[in-house]
Amino acid sequence: MEQQENLSVVLYERNDLRLEKRPIPEPGHNEVLLKMHSVGICGSDVHYWQNGGIGDFVVKKPMVLGHEASGTVFKVGSGVQHLKAGDRVAIEPGVPRENDEYCRTGRYNLSPTIFFSATPPDDGNLCRYNSHNANYCYKLPESVSFEEGAMIEPLSVAIHACRRGGVTIGSKVFILGAGPIGLVNLLVSKAMGASQIVICDLSLNRLEKAKQMGASFTIAVEKSTNPKELGQKVKDALGGAMPDISIECTGAELCMQAGIYATKSGGVLVLVGMGKPSANIPVLDVAIREVDIRGVFRYCNTWPEAIAMLASKRIDVKPLVTHRFPLEEALEAFKKTKEGVGIKVMLKCDPNNQNP
Ligand code: NAD
Ligand code: ZN
Repeated sequence: MEQQENLSVVLYERNDLRLEKRPIPEPGHNEVLLKMHSVGICGSDVHYWQNGGIGDFVVKKPMVLGHEASGTVFKVGSGVQHLKAGDRVAIEPGVPRENDEYCRTGRYNLSPTIFFSATPPDDGNLCRYNSHNANYCYKLPESVSFEEGAMIEPLSVAIHACRRGGVTIGSKVFILGAGPIGLVNLLVSKAMGASQIVICDLSLNRLEKAKQMGASFTIAVEKSTNPKELGQKVKDALGGAMPDISIECTGAELCMQAGIYATKSGGVLVLVGMGKPSANIPVLDVAIREVDIRGVFRYCNTWPEAIAMLASKRIDVKPLVTHRFPLEEALEAFKKTKEGVGIKVMLKCDPNNQNP
């Protein structure tokens, strides 16, 4: 028998995370009601829990967390044509509300009024049942697991970053940070044809993981490392060449500086990491050597490509999932994530199917 409760992970305010039962929503005209299966915990979920906000996004009323998700269609709204009950789907959390100039030019991630799961005030999908715009639910082929489906969200950040950086066949890429986001950038750079990939981090464990996942060179960094010297180490690792593209995935000022020094003249530094609102960076070096600095805000137009790459086994995100907890143990899972356990922690929302 189907369970009729909707256990949800709700953030009330800073440091007040609760598991509570909420009503099961009815899908709207263009929505599907989803029975959630796998939801990854993102650094931003932990950040909202610990700090009650990120920049201008402040938790002012209880909000369901979670935005790296997959599930099964349980019920379809009256206007939904392309999905039916039983379809397995991956969920894109960002749904534009208006057909504004950003939508019309294909960059809907920049739409200021976009709905985004688990960004206040919009609820996320760390629950048993959730409704979502059907056009932003993508059917998964049988060969792609629910967890791979959930990993499409962080993978999308990397697809967008590598597109913004212009990674292509033969590129030499420097990735700063080997957390989940640095590691998906490693996977995507490789898949887009990068010839050599250097990655740095403070954590030796994470560098070991990066090595296993195909990094050409790893560089251990300390908080006191000189950014110019780090740039030189990257050049040494590449046999005297400088990276065409650097992808900053830490948010640390030192890494932004190193990303500039390391990148070859005329190359690109992509800023994915989000740290302090302002940073001290060597602007003269940027100007004189024409290093293009490009921002990244989430992603757009990535789910179909990500599904194709997972289905064809050209990208393997499975090694990133290191821990799993049933939804009932969500608070424990959040504590473990905060402590920095493993790489990606998955919550399993369906009590009758806890498989990957
Ligand atoms: P994470 O905290 O798990 O990983 C960051 C990694 O950077 C860690 O392994 C850490 O050891 C390393 N690091 C920190 N300071 C360093 C330093 N000085 N030198 C070298 N390495 C250092 O985070 P994550 O989930 O991998 O996300 C990475 C960043 O990307 C975060 O800042 C996050 O906010 C940001 N992010 C941005 C977007 C976007 O849309 N732009 C989307 C998702 C995540
Ligand atoms: Zn996220």
